[in-house]
Amino acid sequence: MVMTQRIAVLGATGSIGDSTLAILAAQPQHYQVYALSGHHRLDKLFALCQQFLPKRVSVPIAAVSDFAQRLSRAGLDIDVVGGEAGLVDIATDSQTDTVVAAIVGAAGLPSTLAAARAGKRILLANKEALVMAGQVMINAVKTHHATLLPLDSEHNAIFQCLPLAIQQDNSQIHQPNHGVRKLWLTASGGPFLQQSFAQMQQASIAEAVKHPNWSMGQKISVDSATMMNKGLELIEACHLFDLPEDKINVVIHPQSIIHSMVEYSDGSFLAQLGSPDMKTPIAHALSYPDRINSGSQPLDLFALSGLEFIEPDLQKFACLRLARQAMQAGTQATIVLNAANEIAVDAFLKGQIRLTDIADINEQALDEIQLPPLNETADIEDILAIDKIARHLTDKLVAKLT
Ligand code: NDP
Ligand code: MG
Repeated sequence: MVMTQRIAVLGATGSIGDSTLAILAAQPQHYQVYALSGHHRLDKLFALCQQFLPKRVSVPIAAVSDFAQRLSRAGLDIDVVGGEAGLVDIATDSQTDTVVAAIVGAAGLPSTLAAARAGKRILLANKEALVMAGQVMINAVKTHHATLLPLDSEHNAIFQCLPLAIQQDNSQIHQPNHGVRKLWLTASGGPFLQQSFAQMQQASIAEAVKHPNWSMGQKISVDSATMMNKGLELIEACHLFDLPEDKINVVIHPQSIIHSMVEYSDGSFLAQLGSPDMKTPIAHALSYPDRINSGSQPLDLFALSGLEFIEPDLQKFACLRLARQAMQAGTQATIVLNAANEIAVDAFLKGQIRLTDIADINEQALDEIQLPPLNETADIEDILAIDKIARHLTDKLVAKLT
């Protein structure tokens, strides 16, 4: 392990930000909080600046001057930058060793990609960046010798269950001697697993964001309720582990104790288990290849009453089916699906549509926006252009329902 890793936490005010900073606060001998970013929750960001004394901080452009004055009045000498350029600046700063990519949604893509192109060590929570630009991201990581470590608990679990050769080079997964047959992503099934589709149709915002096992930001909580989260994770896994979607199975495991599995050709299934606490995968990735104390509750095996495994209902959870369909169709479709879903989730959280409308809107967006496949040389501009078209059309689909 590098003696003191200088860490930039992008999305420091969110749920992954909280878990990351709790570990960093407990391990000051190993980590220095070099930079932080926030968006709406600037009071919280200010408190984090007082606690961690980062050298740099990024806020929305419109807030730069006020935030800088506020820091200066408090006697804090912290460089304040703004907007997407500010996030990219921090992610590529020569003093930054590790970037924790924990911004939610497409807003996290430019800084995450910039970190890859600057050859950084990236701890990736922002799955949407891979759903939109998986190939571009993975190519950038390889070309610029960056290190990409998954924070998403399922992908972190799979990473831990793979041999070192594949951890270091994902294309090794195809070598027959490693014997990887399939990956198994576990899913909790979310708050509506035991309820009917009709009950799901009536779900309130509070019911939808109340996850049975994990405490997370609002967008991913809604994604878990529709199982779009597992769909996004399926696409994320295809890119991280260089596999087609039909080599990745999804199984509902309501207890969220097994975080995912790798199935090998000799019949072995390797699984990673732990309490459902994001501090475990974050600590793993922070200290990889060493191990540190994460502060999470150890699993009490004697208190476990039984582990269940259930096949997902693809009619009730249509978003999971749509993710496979999009992955088969190509990157242009996964960009459309991600954009449509972000708009639809936002509309649900504003009370404009029902929870079950999200899948319908996503499906309509995939059907109506038929784009030619992106070619090998497609770059971020091409991706953002498709993202924009998809958002525009989805706004219209939402408007029809409201
Ligand atoms: P939160 O909503 O709790 O946090 C999101 C963070 O992104 C906040 O810091 C927020 O700032 C910032 N942000 C939001 N919009 C913008 C924007 N337009 N520009 C810049 N920053 C922005 O989400 P989570 O922490 O739950 O999730 C973050 C990412 O991690 C998501 O991609 C999610 O899918 C992934 N993830 C999360 C897990 C979890 O357990 N929470 C598990 C696995 C993956 P502010 O709050 O100040 O507005
Ligand atoms: Mg996950």
